[in-house]
This record gives sequence, structure tokens and C-alpha cells, in this order.
Amino acid sequence: MSVAQRLTDPYRPEADVVAHRLQVVSAGLDWHAAARVAAPWVQAVRDNPPPFWAMESLLKEYPISSAEGLALMRLAEALLRVPDAETAIALTADQLGRADFDSSGDKVLARLSSTAIAMSKHFLPGGEEGSANSPGLMGKLGAKTVVAATLRAVQLLGRQFVLGQTMKEAMAEADAARKGAKLTFSYDMLGEGARTDHDALRYLQSYKDAIEFIASRANKTGALEQNDGISIKLSALHPRYEDAHSQRVMDELVPRVWGLCEAAAKANINLTIDAEEVDRLELSLEVFEALVAKVAQQYPQWKGFGLAMQAYQTRALELIEHVASLGRKYKLRLMCRLVKGAYWDAEIKRAQENGLPAYPVFTHKHHTDVSYLACARALLEAPDAIYPQFATHNAATIAAILQMAAKTGVPFELQRLHGMGEGVYREVLKNPLVSCRVYAPVGAHRDLLAYLVRRLLENGANSSFVHQLADESVGMEELLISPLRLEPQSSLPMPIALFGAHAGARKNSTGLDLTVPAHREPLLAALASTAIPAVSEFEVKNIAGAYQSCASSYQKWSKTDVSERATVLRKAADAMLAATPSLCALLVKEAFKTWGDAVAEVREAVDFLRYYADEAERIMQPVSCPVVYGAHAGAMVGVTGETNTLRLTARGVWVCISPWNFPLAIFAGQVAAALATGNTVLAKPAEQTPGIAKVAVDILHAAGVPADALQLLHGAGETVGAALVAQPGVAGVVFTGSTQVAKIIQRALAMKDGPIVPLIAETGGINAMLVDSSALPEQVVDAVVLSAFRSAGQRCSALRLLVVHSAIADGVIEMIQGAAKELVAGNPAHIATDVGPVIDREAYDNIQRHIDRLHAESKVLVAPKRQAMTATNSIANLIPPHAFEVKSIADVKAEIFGPVLQIVRWDGDPAEVIAQINALGYGLTLGIQTRIDSRAQALAHAAHVGNIYINRNMIGAVVGVQPFGGEGLSGTGPKAGGPHYLYRFCAEQAVTVNTTAAGGNAALLASLH
Ligand SMILES: Cc1cc2nc3c(=O)[nH]c(=O)nc-3n(C[C@H](O)[C@H](O)[C@H](O)COP(=O)(O)OP(=O)(O)OC[C@H]3O[C@@H](n4cnc5c(N)ncnc54)[C@H](O)[C@@H]3O)c2cc1C
Repeated sequence: MSVAQRLTDPYRPEADVVAHRLQVVSAGLDWHAAARVAAPWVQAVRDNPPPFWAMESLLKEYPISSAEGLALMRLAEALLRVPDAETAIALTADQLGRADFDSSGDKVLARLSSTAIAMSKHFLPGGEEGSANSPGLMGKLGAKTVVAATLRAVQLLGRQFVLGQTMKEAMAEADAARKGAKLTFSYDMLGEGARTDHDALRYLQSYKDAIEFIASRANKTGALEQNDGISIKLSALHPRYEDAHSQRVMDELVPRVWGLCEAAAKANINLTIDAEEVDRLELSLEVFEALVAKVAQQYPQWKGFGLAMQAYQTRALELIEHVASLGRKYKLRLMCRLVKGAYWDAEIKRAQENGLPAYPVFTHKHHTDVSYLACARALLEAPDAIYPQFATHNAATIAAILQMAAKTGVPFELQRLHGMGEGVYREVLKNPLVSCRVYAPVGAHRDLLAYLVRRLLENGANSSFVHQLADESVGMEELLISPLRLEPQSSLPMPIALFGAHAGARKNSTGLDLTVPAHREPLLAALASTAIPAVSEFEVKNIAGAYQSCASSYQKWSKTDVSERATVLRKAADAMLAATPSLCALLVKEAFKTWGDAVAEVREAVDFLRYYADEAERIMQPVSCPVVYGAHAGAMVGVTGETNTLRLTARGVWVCISPWNFPLAIFAGQVAAALATGNTVLAKPAEQTPGIAKVAVDILHAAGVPADALQLLHGAGETVGAALVAQPGVAGVVFTGSTQVAKIIQRALAMKDGPIVPLIAETGGINAMLVDSSALPEQVVDAVVLSAFRSAGQRCSALRLLVVHSAIADGVIEMIQGAAKELVAGNPAHIATDVGPVIDREAYDNIQRHIDRLHAESKVLVAPKRQAMTATNSIANLIPPHAFEVKSIADVKAEIFGPVLQIVRWDGDPAEVIAQINALGYGLTLGIQTRIDSRAQALAHAAHVGNIYINRNMIGAVVGVQPFGGEGLSGTGPKAGGPHYLYRFCAEQAVTVNTTAAGGNAALLASLH
């Protein structure tokens, strides 16, 4: 089940949306009057700058765009969670070393440190507390006062944003802050989103406890608006709070939240659901409406249920209209917190990565402001259904809201985050009619980090009001400038134009957002209408004939102008993109891909076609020699009286042998590379996936590749494959598959008489990920689960061996176990499936043999019962995720091409770990997870590995962006999708012409003055 779409499409032209929002706002708002109100607030704040240790001051001194600011942020993010002294010292030294904290004497680090230590006496009277401060660590760090001071400084920075480590502490702080000011609070329990159900239940309990605390102080019969309340994150309460798992979310998450709602209703307090990522908005509305219906039924008098809404979303106004209609439908008054939005950078990246049609958020800061004001107006106009809560620290926005609210006369409140905007609110709250609620995070230091970094980024951004307020060089006029203007162009290139907007720039392939019904439905429809085409086996005896026709076609195709060949490939790319639904359906049916994997694969195939078209045009232009690089490029050098030209030519007929794990992308990539450079192709797809290959070939033929220039020869590797490799005259072989078969091909080619035939082989690997104790376990687990288990572990790049520092290993392993349990293994045609079956019985049996062996030899960490899986899914060849702990890296001898992860603990020198990984002999992908930048770089240099991914997952290389391929047992190179790939498909020819042969050096003489 997927949720119904309640709102408009998020991917709409920004200018159209903003033009409408401007219409909504302009008539009802006098901006200049609002700016006049805000100016004295700003002046007052500037006249009383915050103390040195306040976050605004720190960011002013160390902007996040500087090395120092970045170091501060990195340390703030990581230092408190590092459990072992050795790593803490390495991290601190690394970050402080790259920043210039200590070059300016007393000013910078010294000041930071001494302030920190002085402050710590005040703030931490009990001295050391919490795991990061354990005597062992502090004792050891004590030798290094700088490190100790930094630790303190980071803690103090954290305290700027966290009201208390416990509710008791937080409420005591709140009471102190309330003195003399009309403040209420909304408490938030800190933490990362839940990766496991265990985590989700832990968060649930902490919310329950918090509500109990708040309830004990709340006025049960008075005005709810004057009671403190709570804010909750749905992602903390369910490990699969995702659109694809909406049924589970409705079944499991809704009852959890309902329990909290009931407690809040009985206590007469406000409960707000925080706003999270764009692709969860529709799902959150499904959850919200289910709860609203229950509230209406059981607690119709409760006026405290509500949600946060992000104005930076292009559909924010529609969201408000929808929520107002819900309030009316269920006869409830809902509390609606309007925010601008905290995930802007992540939303932009997601849209770019997925090649989405547009951005779901505005790309100009002032457009977000306009949207905020339009939304504010809509909230103020719906007092029958909504109690507006305006959350912002922007003085101009606040003044505009006050002006609009005064006109309507409806009740409302303002909100700010703890640790932010205090100065401005001190001024604003001088108006006794205005009330403010403070969003107050509560939690242990260790849980602070993600929240802290978000706030640092928010405050550090140049466009942020708080940042500009602290920057005296931004004048009053600039600070309070009217946002009521339309910028016709987006501030960022559209995802499709990511690789350049200039004429001739390669278009990025467009992707889909599977949470949007309009994107998803054509795929599901295609599943019903797409059949796997029948492909008959090619008879070995006909291979010589196929070669002959391919060779004669070569004569013409190789002489076709490179730009014409490139045009044909681009046409094929467009056709593939247009056929995305049916190609995806085919990938699901024939290769058992999940929908997400299928969409990514079609995009990769399209990218290959376009990239190699561009690359061929680039490299196949003749160049004059000697080639002059750098500043003097293009200069005429060399011996007078001759010209020297180097050009690339095609080689002839190539044999392309591709695997079943990327039956479209790798197939299309190999073929396109050969065709773009003027070669012709005999293509043998994997035995398991000839249907997809046939469709790809049909598309290429329809685009203009002559039938004889690209021929599909379906059959077994041992027969058709072997015969193709043995065929005399073949000019080259490109192969992706196992190391073992690559070796067989290499030997067969070596045994052949005649020319020496090039082989490009891309093979597998025992891909490892090294994790040190500065890494964030949640981030590690996300990367591990994705890299090891998604695509059923059937990617060459997939993670096989996790090497995790022993100081954090228990926690990481426990989280992997919990997260693996949440994965859905089953029918890939279901949108909720994470892990489909492996490709065939042979693969299944082989993987099971390894699993049986590991059961006997190692410690079992993740291993669902085989019979239970088969019985519940009745899907052939399904292997759910498995994980085992083994003793040493050297114990991992073979690549297991399935969802099977082996885990080893390490201690000591990470370089030694890399040496052991190198010793395995493979060299395809490597993951490194550490916050110690210099360590990451040193390890990457030491690794004999083709593709290294630092602090992210290790799959999904993007064509032209992350050229892909390994070394050693993992392949010959050059890298697919990289700038050196096409050269291997070409021969080189140097032509030297003696220009003086006709009697003398006319050019030399003519050049003399
Ligand atoms: C009480 C409270 C609760 C909050 N709860 C949530 C929540 O549940 N979910 C959530 O997401 N956020 C939440 N926030 C954070 C909020 O979304 C803002 O990030 C924060 O308040 C800064 O906005 P501002 O109005 O104070 O500052 P301003 O500096 O005026 O505005 C900053 C906003 O502009 C956006 N922006 C920056 N550059 C651009 C650009 N080039 N194009 C378009 N937009 C841009 C930023 O992303 C940010 O949203 C909450 C904030 C408060 C005060």
C-alpha cells in the first residue's frame, strides 16, 4: 500500500509558485512599516552583543566557510561520542591541526580553551560526568590540555542548545528562564531517527516519560496555550517511517503516537509533530489524519494536537489549506507551527542525486520568506480550525507577522529555538500582548550531535538571518530588505542540468520519486503490460558468419563521422529514458530488481550512452604533437618542416560479455563504448537476462545503429561466449563478471594466434569498510545496510567485510542486527521490498553453501530461519540478509555474491588493517568511516582499491562522476564511466608529414620578418 496523494506535486516551477504567493501576500502587508518596527530590535541586539561563548559569537569569529569554523563543527559533531582516548586525541589533533586556531596567540584557541575551562567550572560543578567524560578519558586527555579544553568547549557549545540532560533539569532551567518573561516551552527528546524497533521503543518511552513530567505541572483545566507542551519526531518512533512501508506505519506507528496523544490530551498540553523530509510529508499527513479522526472521536475537547509545516516547500500553502480543511471536517482546532524548514541542503542533494524534475523547495532564500508570509496569512485566516504558531528568529518576519495578525485580531503565538534568537525576542516580548514558546531539546550530550550540527549549519549559512544579524558589515537596510520580489530563475541548476547549462552540455538522466503517485503509477502499470521477450539461443556454428557480417559493417560504421555516431547514441538514450516504465518492469521481472534499483539502472544506462557519445567526440579529434599542456596549450612547437598528428581509430569487431546483475546498464555501457569509438559489436548478454538485452539492442537499432554493427548472441558462456572469444579476427573483448571467468578469457586470448587482443575485465571483490570510533554509528549502519544487503548483495561493489573498531563494535553490531531485521525480503514487484531473490538456483545454492559454512565457523549475528522465509514468501531463491562475525580479515577468502556480511573487530593501527585488506588481493571498492580527515586520506592512499567511499555507502557509482573499476583480482581497468575508458577501445595512429618534401621549408621562410 502507498499513501494517497493529498497535495500537489512537489516538483513545480519555482517562479510560478512564488508569483502566486506574492499575490497572496502583497495586498495585506506593508513591508516597509514592518521593517521600521524591526529596526530598533536589531539595533538593540547589535548594541548588546552576546557573550564570546554564545553560538552566534563563535560563528561570527569562525564562520563555517573557514577552516576554523569547519573544525569547530566537526569537533562538535564527533568529539563527545568518541569512547577511546586515542581516537579522541587523533580527532582533535586532526581538526585543530588543519585550522589556524593557535596561530593568533591568545585570540583564538587559547581564548576558546580558557573560556571553556572557566565556563566549565560554572556549568559543570560536579566535574566529569557521562561516558565521554569518564575519568579514564579525561585523565589521559589531561596531559593534552588543548584536547581537554576542546572537549569542554564543545560541551559548552552543546549546552547553548540543550535545555537539560533530563526533563527534571530542563524544567528547572525553563522555570529560571520564565522569570520575568512570558514563556512557555515545547520539549523535544534528542536523538537520531530510529534504525531499529528497539530504538523506536526507547524513544517512545522517553516521550511518554516527558509527557508525564509536563503533565505533572500543567494546568488541566486552564488555557492549553499557557501550558508547556511536547514536540515529537515520527522518524524516531518507527524504524521504517517511509512511504514504501505505509501499511506498517499505519499499523504500528499510529497506535504508538496515539498513546502519546491520549496522554497529552488528558494533560491538556500541546503535542506537535515535527516536520521532516519532503518525501515523508504525504505519509505524515496520512498518519496525522488517522490521529485527528481518533482525537475527534475520543477527545473532541482537546485543542492541543498539531503539526509543523515547512514554508520552504513549494506546496506549503496547499498543505495549510489541507490541514485547515481537516480541522473543519473533524471539528477540531489544530495547533500549527509554521517554520521555514531545516533540511534545505539535504533536499537539494536528494533532488540532484535522483535527477528529479525540479526542486521541492525554493532555491532563493527570499522566496522561502515570501512563502512563509503567504502561509502565515493563510493560517491567520483560518482561526476556526487553526491556532497559528509562528516559529522564526527573523526580526523582519516577526514584525510582518505581528502586523498581519493585528489586522485579523486572532490569537497566535511566536516560537523560537532554545539558544537562538534570544536577543530579538527580548525586544519583541516587551509587547505584553505577544507570547513566545521555546522549543527546548532535552537529552544527553551524546544525542545532541545531529541536532547541534543542524543548528550550526543553519546559523552559519550566509543567508541566515541570525548570521547576518551578528555580522555588523550587513547594514540595517540590507538586513531588513523586502523579500517581496520574484527571481525568475532558480539559483541552482535544475537536476537535469547538473553537468552544465551550456549548449552541448551532457544532460543528467531524469529519475523518479517513487513516493509520488504520478511517478510511481506508470511503473506499476507497466508491470502488467510488459512481457519478457523471447530470445532464441544463438547457434555456435553461426558465429563465424555473425563475425563476417559484423566485420563488413565495421568498414562503414568506423568511417561514419564520430558526431553522427554520437547522435545515434544520444537518440537511443532519449528513447531509453522514454521507455523507463517498461524497462523497469522488465528489470523487475527478468532480473528480480526492486523498483528503486530498476529506476537507478535505467538512469545509469542512459548516462552511459550520453557520456560515451560526448567522450568519443572529445577524444577522437586528431591532435598535433607534441601536445602542449598548461598555459601554452595550442602553441606551435617541435621541429620545423614537418607536421605530426595523433589520431585514434577504431579497432574492429569487439566482443561484449555482460553480467546479469546490471543487465541493462553494463550491457549498454560496454556496447556504447565500442560503438561510439567506431567499433562494431557482437554482444553476449548473461544467460539469465537476454530479454532486457534484446530490448536495449532494439532501441539502439531503432536509433540508427546498423543491424550488423550490433548483433545479439544469446547463449551460455561456455559455448557462445567461449566461441566468440576464440573467433579469429576479434579486435577486443570487454567482460564484466567473475575473476575466474576473466582469467579463462585471458588465457583463451593468449592462446590465440594472430594479433594481441586487448581485454577489459571488470570483476568482483572482497569489498571492505573500515570504521573507526569517531564514526557516527547511525550513519555507519545506514551505509552498511545499503551496501551489503540492498540489491540482495548482488553488486560488484557491495560490502562484504565490515571492519569495525572494537570500542564501538558492540553498539554497531547491535544496530545492524536491529536494522537488518527491519528489511523486507520478498517479491521485488512490491514497492515495500528491500531485498529481492538472488538471480537463480545456482547462485542460491552457492550462497547457501557459504552461509552453512559460516554457521559452522563463525559467530552468527543475523540469520533468519530459512524455512520460515520460504514459507511466508513462497518466492524462489530468496535469501534474506545474513551477518557473521569472523576472527580475522584473512579468514575472509571468497567473495560471496549475495546478502551476506562478515564482520571483524579491529584495534590499534588502522594502516595495518588496510595492509591486511590489500593482502586479500582484490581491489574494487572500500568504505572508510571516520571523522579524522587526515586518517581518511592516508588510508585511501594506502589502499590498493579502485573506488573509495569516505563516510557514505559504497554502491551506486555515477557515470562520469565516480568512474568505476578495480585493480588486482578486481579487474584490468580502465574505469567504466571515466575519461580514460574509451582509449582502450581505440588504436592510435601518429602521422608525420614532411612539409619540405616539395623542395624547401616555405613556412619557415615565410615566418621570418
Ligand atoms: C520552534 C521551532 C521549531 C522548529 N521545528 C522545525 C521542524 O519541525 N522542522 C523543520 O524542518 N524545521 C524546524 N525548525 C527550524 C526552522 O525550519 C528554521 O530552520 C529556522 O527556524 C531558521 O529560520 P528563521 O526564520 O529563524 O531564519 P531565516 O534566516 O530567516 O530563514 C532561514 C530559512 O531559509 C532557508 N533558506 C536558506 N537559504 C535558502 C535558499 N537559497 N533558498 C530557499 N530557502 C533558503 C533555510 O533553509 C531556512 O529554512 C523549527 C524552528 C523553530 C524556531
